[in-house]
Amino acid sequence: MNAQAASPAAVSQTGPYFCEMPSDPCAIIMFGASGDLARRKLMPALYDLAFHSCLAPSFRLLGFARTKMSDDDFRKSAGEFLPKGQEEGADDAKKSEFLKNLQYFTGDYDDAAAFQNLAKRLEELDKEGGLGGNRLFYLATPPEVYTHVIQQLKQANLTKSKGDKSWTRIIIEKPFGRDLASAKALNAKVLEAFDESQIYRIDHYLGKETVQNMLVFRFGNGIFEPLWNRNYIDSVQITAAESLGVERRAAFYETAGAMRDMIQSHVLQLTSLVAMEAPARFDATSVRNEKIKVLQSMRPFTAESVWKDVVRGQYGPGQINGKAVPGYRQEPGVKPDSSTDTFAALKLHVDNWRWSGVPFYLRSGKRLAQPHTEVAILFKRAPHMVFRGENTETNSLVLNIQPEEGISLSFGAKTPGSQMLIRPVEMDFQYKNTFGASTRPAYATLINDCIRGDATLFDRADSVEAAWALVDPILNTWAGAAAPPFPNYPAGSDGPRAADDLTGADGRHWRPL
Ligand code: NDP
Repeated sequence: MNAQAASPAAVSQTGPYFCEMPSDPCAIIMFGASGDLARRKLMPALYDLAFHSCLAPSFRLLGFARTKMSDDDFRKSAGEFLPKGQEEGADDAKKSEFLKNLQYFTGDYDDAAAFQNLAKRLEELDKEGGLGGNRLFYLATPPEVYTHVIQQLKQANLTKSKGDKSWTRIIIEKPFGRDLASAKALNAKVLEAFDESQIYRIDHYLGKETVQNMLVFRFGNGIFEPLWNRNYIDSVQITAAESLGVERRAAFYETAGAMRDMIQSHVLQLTSLVAMEAPARFDATSVRNEKIKVLQSMRPFTAESVWKDVVRGQYGPGQINGKAVPGYRQEPGVKPDSSTDTFAALKLHVDNWRWSGVPFYLRSGKRLAQPHTEVAILFKRAPHMVFRGENTETNSLVLNIQPEEGISLSFGAKTPGSQMLIRPVEMDFQYKNTFGASTRPAYATLINDCIRGDATLFDRADSVEAAWALVDPILNTWAGAAAPPFPNYPAGSDGPRAADDLTGADGRHWRPL
């Protein structure tokens, strides 16, 4: 989100992702560096930043984990996930220059002596690379390890910035808590060690170009915002559908489910961006102040409204793209009688002047017919229809987030011929046609922002807690009752029948996937 994105000079010579100025030199200390996220997502993201001249050439990356590895082993394992062949950035000289800056530190997350040694190593790295004491800690471990690391960092005196000119920041991966109480406890623990201004709670969805474009679309144009309210909008639908199952993450997913993993974070983030008021300025405080107001305006769920307005589902065996896939309970690592939700849908009310009476329908699930994430704004019908024809659909504005990125507006047009017949048509804007395919990984955008001290796209303590406060009554109501007969939707479908009833009861229907 930094200034170089807005500067024409930055995009003219070398492409939109090259930075005008490299960031401050710094040490990036990655806890859980032997893990899946670190290798598959964070290394390629950091390389992307180095390749595009966004990282200071003297940066140092220190991987920290319990697995014994030499620096060379670590570099080799990181190198496996860097671009190859025809991919952008597949440049051997640049890759080896990047990998040279990687080092590894074997240590236990509970071992005070290891953290004392880490402190010494960081001093050495500061001198060797002229890093000016700038440090970014990245918590890429499972969540149960977060508080141990934070505690050790505090004891080793590593949480405070070293002086006025240097900075210390921490990125904390999602999930941030598993309910309101644990999120509050985690916030309290982190805030004992770091100041809120040092804490970057990451949700990688917010690093996607199209998600950021929602702000530009709404507040950088004059024509949409006057319609963006209860007078013109009938309802809003937000869908985050995956066709994949749990892949390698069954153990984690069994403890989470769709409501925790997707709705509480990504989907409520999108909802806040759709529903927020214009910020006074485009900075972290102003944007996040507006987002929290949306979360605070969401009507709380009660035990009664959970049963009426929230649906959970779990997939059974089915077919995706003509290929048979197992049901959730048959996936490796899943309990044969698991009651984990792999699908969740809900109707939400944002009780404020702008949105009163406009339902927000949210849904997310695994093993659905198509991978597709979109925000659909469905407008009210014309007050009186003088034409005949097929225009039974309302006008809709759809912000496509993935896999295809773009915006489409559907409206009625006259069908050619002697009669005044009307048919829905679409006006389409596709990112890749106008700007070329977007190649910057979401993680690269967010890490770049963090290194430059821009927290606009990161979550603040109050908004994480507000999102959990909304979801908590749902989770508690579900936990206190038997799950519906699972599985209740076949893999490859649009989700459970009960989700259709949710919109159907209001005389509406979900957009097909
Ligand atoms: P992993 O399970 O791969 O764990 C990362 C590393 O942490 C492991 O290599 C291991 O290193 C260490 N570790 C694992 N389990 C334990 C444990 N019980 N106690 C102490 N250390 C442990 O996790 P991921 O890399 O998949 O995810 C890391 C974080 O990122 C999680 O919070 C996850 O929710 C989040 N995340 C992950 C995504 C992904 O695609 N993977 C996507 C979005 C968020 P060692 O044994 O060497 O110390």
